[in-house]
Amino acid sequence: MAYDSNNIFAKILRGEIPCDKIYEDEHVLAFNDIRPQAKAHALVIPKGPYVCSQDFAEKASDAEIGAFTRAVAKVAKQLGIAESGYRVISNSGPNSHQEVPHYHVHILGGQPMGKMVH
Ligand code: 5GP
Repeated sequence: MAYDSNNIFAKILRGEIPCDKIYEDEHVLAFNDIRPQAKAHALVIPKGPYVCSQDFAEKASDAEIGAFTRAVAKVAKQLGIAESGYRVISNSGPNSHQEVPHYHVHILGGQPMGKMVH
């Protein structure tokens, strides 16, 4: 799937749409989800143009992937949920119901998350 630079997260990255920023570095931006599904619900996105998890893992540099993984932990700490625990999920591709075609992970926590249902 080709990257669509008109997706909402690309607009956030370009500063065309505001976001409630939590964390930013050279490779990563994190912000609060506009429709939170838990007491804490953040989104972590790479700054590069990757559509989904598969795309990111296949095309991103080791530096981008490393920064992304570390950013998830930094965001959890900043949200105060690193110790209590949290869920990290990523919808990737059509069958997952991925809504925004720019790779992202959801960090959900601040409350017991319940058992995952499949
Ligand atoms: P997906 O279904 O693609 O995994 O999740 C996309 C997420 O992006 C949803 O949880 C949705 O609430 C969030 N979202 C969609 N548009 C915006 C927006 O403009 N700002 C923010 N902060 N979150 C958004």
